[in-house]
Amino acid sequence: MGNAKLIDGNLIAGKVLQEVSAQSAEFRHDRGRPPGLAVVLVGEDPASAVYVRMKIRDCGLCGIESFSHRLPATTTTRELLDLIQRLNSDDDVDGVLVQLPLPEGIDTKKILDSIDPAKDVDGFHPSNVGRLVRGDSQVLVPCTPSGVMRMLDEEGVDPKGAHAVVVGRSDIVGKPMALLLLHRHATVTICHSRTRDLAEVCRTADILVAAVGRPLMVQADWVKKGAVVIDVGMNSLGPGDAPSVILEDPARQSDFEKKGYTLVGDVSPEAGKSASLITPVPGGVGPMTRAVLMQNTLKAARWRTD
Ligand code: NDP
Repeated sequence: MGNAKLIDGNLIAGKVLQEVSAQSAEFRHDRGRPPGLAVVLVGEDPASAVYVRMKIRDCGLCGIESFSHRLPATTTTRELLDLIQRLNSDDDVDGVLVQLPLPEGIDTKKILDSIDPAKDVDGFHPSNVGRLVRGDSQVLVPCTPSGVMRMLDEEGVDPKGAHAVVVGRSDIVGKPMALLLLHRHATVTICHSRTRDLAEVCRTADILVAAVGRPLMVQADWVKKGAVVIDVGMNSLGPGDAPSVILEDPARQSDFEKKGYTLVGDVSPEAGKSASLITPVPGGVGPMTRAVLMQNTLKAARWRTD
């Protein structure tokens, strides 16, 4: 990685989970029940199944009750909407998470829009997106960009006045990331697949966030000396298709490494030669995303019951 200091996502995520544990014990004491997260998995996608298992495990680690709902791939949009309605009106459920991607044939937008915004722990509902754009303080923000902001704070990186370049404009990562940096007074540039002279734009970044999904795309000479580099990418390299989530699961990582797979980010490790701080993959943004989901569930629980 060169001379850059590594930002330890596992360490910071551990701290977040500890905070959530303490606060959820307090919640339980005050309200007579733990915060609750409903996790809905439709179909048999193996990577999704691993994600869901990890989320349920995280709930257990920090005193959040999980309600697991597994539905067959043949489930209709109507049936899923009915389940979400039930979860929306269940008082023991503070967060509703529908694991994506949903099987073809289910109207994903309709499903996400049907989740009560107060229980929308992924922050995908239009009403939370609108609140984020406005910069409201009481808003559920998508977990990955929120986790990145916490990492910057932990490292004492103040985005104010900095030029932040976000590569990627997805609703899940790129767009909310850019908004969060903007609210913290960075000057933000958003890049995407049609951006001209991408390397040149990246070279002007004080804070560079790569959320692209292209293995090792960001080269060492795209990074300005002293820049802070956040690598959101999770790409598996190996003899065939391995779901990257499995590689990010520490319990299963060595199995997959033995089979010749590695998990790499969107940034070449050589970029660490110019950067001052850089997130590793694995062990960077991934664990933060999971920890923030727990934090969002606790926030939702508090806001709903205040
Ligand atoms: P999407 O595929 O939804 O978005 C990718 C973005 O990258 C798009 O905006 C696309 O541009 C842009 N892009 C693609 N190719 C290029 C290119 N050659 N040059 C410049 N921009 C390009 O992905 P996500 O945002 O969902 O995820 C991005 C990465 O982050 C993935 O590797 C994913 O696995 C990872 N991820 C990691 C998480 C974590 O917890 N660590 C959580 C979520 C995602 P355009 O819009 O023009 O098509």
